[in-house]
Amino acid sequence: MIVPATMQERVCPVPHSEQERIQLGHGSGGKLSARLLRDHFLPRFGSRYLHELGDGAVVPVDVGHVVMSTDTFVVSPLEFPGGDIGRLAIHGTVNDLAMMGSKPRYLSAGFVLEEGLELDLLDRILDSMLESAEACGVEVVTGDTKVVERGKADGLYVNTTGIGTSVPGFRPGPTKARPGDAVIVSGPIACHGMAIMARREGLAFDADIESDTGSLVPLVEALRSEIGEGVHCLRDATRGGLASALNEIASASGVGVRLDGSPPVPPAVEAACEMLGLDPLYVANEGVMVAFVAEGDALAAVEAMRSHPIGIRASIVGRVTDDHPGTVALRTGLGGTRVVDMLPGDQLPRIC
Ligand code: MG
Repeated sequence: MIVPATMQERVCPVPHSEQERIQLGHGSGGKLSARLLRDHFLPRFGSRYLHELGDGAVVPVDVGHVVMSTDTFVVSPLEFPGGDIGRLAIHGTVNDLAMMGSKPRYLSAGFVLEEGLELDLLDRILDSMLESAEACGVEVVTGDTKVVERGKADGLYVNTTGIGTSVPGFRPGPTKARPGDAVIVSGPIACHGMAIMARREGLAFDADIESDTGSLVPLVEALRSEIGEGVHCLRDATRGGLASALNEIASASGVGVRLDGSPPVPPAVEAACEMLGLDPLYVANEGVMVAFVAEGDALAAVEAMRSHPIGIRASIVGRVTDDHPGTVALRTGLGGTRVVDMLPGDQLPRIC
């Protein structure tokens, strides 16, 4: 029988030897499963809803609408400069909830663990998830673990599903961009994809490149309180990079997007992209968002975003136009224009 610890009785995880690894029995639903839960998951996630160990969690929400979002994380490697799959799994779903204008509240976490996964590595990833969830102000309230045979998964995969509560009068959406809107990017692009690429391929660059994985919630809260309805749409520029996010919005809203120049890219990231022949506009980010904001609110929006460390380099990068609906165009340094299309395939697989 599992004796759940309450939030007040958080205990240190039981130490275990280096050899301890996930076995198929950890997925049996028997004693080993119970021990995995008791020693590794429950000591970290303190939510009282989780510790009730029901088949689901009953959680209170304010009146209004509930926003749901889900995302599955298969990044390889599991740990990389600036983060790991656990941080990504929390920030990914929290950021998607925030992009819908909601306040992220609760998460579920479902794990597929591969036989042979080191428990030390699992612990580090769970610690990281806990730290990120606390920083984002969300609770992990329910979860699941399954184990598959050696060779049938790449260490671990995790799905997080989240619930956020909407705030009256603030409902940005992908169809709401309007001609004249300013296009604001919250920070330098392409860090996450290049950090993964460098680690995966064993590439050494002059400067360390770290993933930008982070919570965008403070930026959305700043925009909500300072601008409100003038914020038309928000999107985190994850897989497929900024180019894909802009194309998706242009298409959904039936408008054109004109970029007045390339958004900022850190010099080390730019050099790495050049070396590998990658366009930073298409490289994944995990802590960068794009905001489409009414023209008259643009400067105030940039100022609001810059009041938080993650948005300190926010800038207006372009405008929404009423010509060439569904198209993103970039003004080049030579006075020409090039179309920034959607990628036909994956530039970097297993990036999140
Ligand atoms: Mg998203």
